[in-house]
Amino acid sequence: LVQLFRPLDMLGMVYRTIRQGLIDMAAMFRLIDTRLEVEDTPGAPALMVQHPTVQFEDVVFGYDPDRTILHGLSFEVPAGNRTAIVGPSGAGKSTIARLLFRFYDPGEGRILIDGQDIALVTQASLRAHIGIVPQDSVLFNETIGYNIAYGRDGATQDDILRAAQGAAILPLIERLPRGLDTEVGERGLKLSGGEKQRVAIARTLVKNPPILLLDEATSALDTGTEQAILETLRRVSENRTTLSIAHRLSTIADADEILVMDHGRIVERGSHRALLRHDGLYAEMWTRQQAEREDIPAAAAE
Ligand code: ADP
Ligand code: MG
Repeated sequence: LVQLFRPLDMLGMVYRTIRQGLIDMAAMFRLIDTRLEVEDTPGAPALMVQHPTVQFEDVVFGYDPDRTILHGLSFEVPAGNRTAIVGPSGAGKSTIARLLFRFYDPGEGRILIDGQDIALVTQASLRAHIGIVPQDSVLFNETIGYNIAYGRDGATQDDILRAAQGAAILPLIERLPRGLDTEVGERGLKLSGGEKQRVAIARTLVKNPPILLLDEATSALDTGTEQAILETLRRVSENRTTLSIAHRLSTIADADEILVMDHGRIVERGSHRALLRHDGLYAEMWTRQQAEREDIPAAAAE
């Protein structure tokens, strides 16, 4: 009996991983036989993006009808800008990302990209315009080339190599005897957390989306690796509309606007300097994290 239930367990696990990790795997939905939360309206047009502005208009949402998670959220990320979302764990940050990628529809309010309600366009066209780098990118037990090309159907060898270069993983690939054909994962090359994130960034670059969604993209990495990946992400997010969800405030201090969330509401917003001056939740989080940073050498010495 236990044997019988295992495949079902696995399926559930894969599904949860996708939902929670926000892996950009629209295609995977077709492989997994599961009911989708959202459906395309019949005859829905494709999303057309010229100016990738992202707007949330009074968005109310709960996973369960009796528990509201987002209580009327409004913000706008102008085309090409970088907005950061910070706040305590459970504040609703990843929920915003899931709604933008349309894993769910809002209960009230609208989400617009370049003026178009994302609930009224095809999901495929919406997802083609958004690149996601989650905290823990999942790679397939496949070649490194396959893992990068997964970002877009019909990616050429040239596209893959250019993306690898943009994600600063090309030097590693060039050192491998089998190059892009090297198997990664259990059967082959073991990649570090930072290298995996670079593959995920390369996958996003192959896709070349106008909108980037970074959900704690560097928070699982050690500080040195984090700095290197942040540097790459900064370059990649130039000229793209970027929403970065972050735990470590030092990683988003240079964002155009920072939204501070608490219990499903934006409680403060502004630049890093303005928020420090305001001396509220952001300033408190900043001070606490600075103090924790100073503690690191002491803790490491123990
Ligand atoms: P954050 O990313 O800010 O840590 P989340 O957006 O992941 O927070 O979660 C916000 C709230 O929604 C939390 O209370 C969390 O428990 C709840 N939540 C998240 N995902 C689900 C889900 N799939 N079903 C029900 N509740 C959920
Ligand atoms: Mg989260």
